[in-house]
Amino acid sequence: MDRKINVSIYNEFLHETTVETVRAIYPRGIHGTIKGFLEEDEAIGTIRCATLQDHRETLGQAVLDDTDVMIWWGHMRHHEVDDKVAAAVVKRVINGMGLIALHSAHASKPFQMLLGTDTYNLRWREAGEKVRLWTIIKNHPIARGLGETFVVPHDETYGEPFGIPQPDEQIFISWFQGGEVFRSGCTWRRGEGRIFYLQNGHETFPVYHQKEIQRVIANAVKWACPILRDCPRDRGGGNVPPLEPYSPENGDFTPVTTG
Ligand code: ZN
Repeated sequence: MDRKINVSIYNEFLHETTVETVRAIYPRGIHGTIKGFLEEDEAIGTIRCATLQDHRETLGQAVLDDTDVMIWWGHMRHHEVDDKVAAAVVKRVINGMGLIALHSAHASKPFQMLLGTDTYNLRWREAGEKVRLWTIIKNHPIARGLGETFVVPHDETYGEPFGIPQPDEQIFISWFQGGEVFRSGCTWRRGEGRIFYLQNGHETFPVYHQKEIQRVIANAVKWACPILRDCPRDRGGGNVPPLEPYSPENGDFTPVTTG
């Protein structure tokens, strides 16, 4: 990559401001913690943050156009995200911007619009169970530097069946202490854009402080970064004359003309 990767982080930022135990884990907000470890990565350039409260101003078109990869964390107030902003994010993904949906962002507007999914289509339980992630595609860029398996000591349990379209790539699968399994690391492509979903990261546990999870997210940012930040919106196409000359007099096929 011949340029630094610009990242925008959307975080709902409600739990951290209303629940003391969550504030203690994420005093700068979940977005602040994610920004903090991404800032240490030389490949990453400008990092912007947006919250539910300010996203109409902070996620304007100019910012989206300057963003290579969007990271999204939301939980309680997905429905309060502005439809116009969500649609603009979706359009940017179609035109090449990467999207990393974390934890309950499976129910966010951009994720659901891009994947055609329905709200909360999974099993869940807030029991602080141990989670063991298994790397299924060891040679995938998102799994770089991670072992065959690692443990998140405590997280919310999500379980199959997960109502997602079949992923293009299944990079991680998780086992939860209570018996569930979950497709916890999945990729899809939509238009020119790459999408990665990571299950981990319930707000009452310090999941985004864990080195392996930070590694997954940093890897995913690099994987999802488009080669062209400014992918042309007009991709050409349409009704066009032939590129190769041909002549029916020389035995070439006779073109059918209409109109
Ligand atoms: Zn949660």
